[in-house]
Amino acid sequence: MGGINEIDIERDERKEHHRLIFEEWLTTYKSYPNQKSTTKIINQERADKIVSYLINRELNPDPNSKFFVKQKGFNLVKIEDKEFLYRQKTEKSSNATINLPVAIKENFFDILFNVHWIQRGHIGVDKTFHQIKVRYDGMPKPVICEFIKKCPICNL
Ligand SMILES: [Zn+2]
Repeated sequence: MGGINEIDIERDERKEHHRLIFEEWLTTYKSYPNQKSTTKIINQERADKIVSYLINRELNPDPNSKFFVKQKGFNLVKIEDKEFLYRQKTEKSSNATINLPVAIKENFFDILFNVHWIQRGHIGVDKTFHQIKVRYDGMPKPVICEFIKKCPICNL
C-alpha cells in the first residue's frame, strides 16, 4: 500500500513541475502570422466576454461583436445547467460541420495532461494533436509540441 502512495506522490510532483514549466512557457507564447499555427488562443477573459455577449445578444447589439461571434461560429451548449463555450466550424476536407468546446488557455495544461498522460499513455505529438483536435477547438499545435517537449515521462 505504501508503495502505491509513493508512486502517486512522485507522479504528482512530476505533474506539478510539468505544469509549472509549461505554463511559464505559455505566458511567452504568441501566435504570430509567420508561425505555422494561425490558431488564436482564447483566454478566460476573452471567453467570458464572448459568453456574456452570447447570453445578452438581444440587449447588446454591438455590430462588431455580432459579426465576430457569428463569423467565428461561437455558441453556447448547456450541459447539466451550465453553459459552455463551443465553436462550430466546417471541416475543409470532409465539408462536415463540427461543434466542439473551446479550449481555454488557462485549461490547456489540464486538457493536455488528461489526453497525453491519463487516457493515451504518452503518445507522440501527431497523435496527441489528433486526439485534441477531435475533442476541442482552439489549441495550436506548437503548444502541444512544447507540452510534450517538456513532459518528464517522455524525456526519461
Ligand atoms: Zn509524455
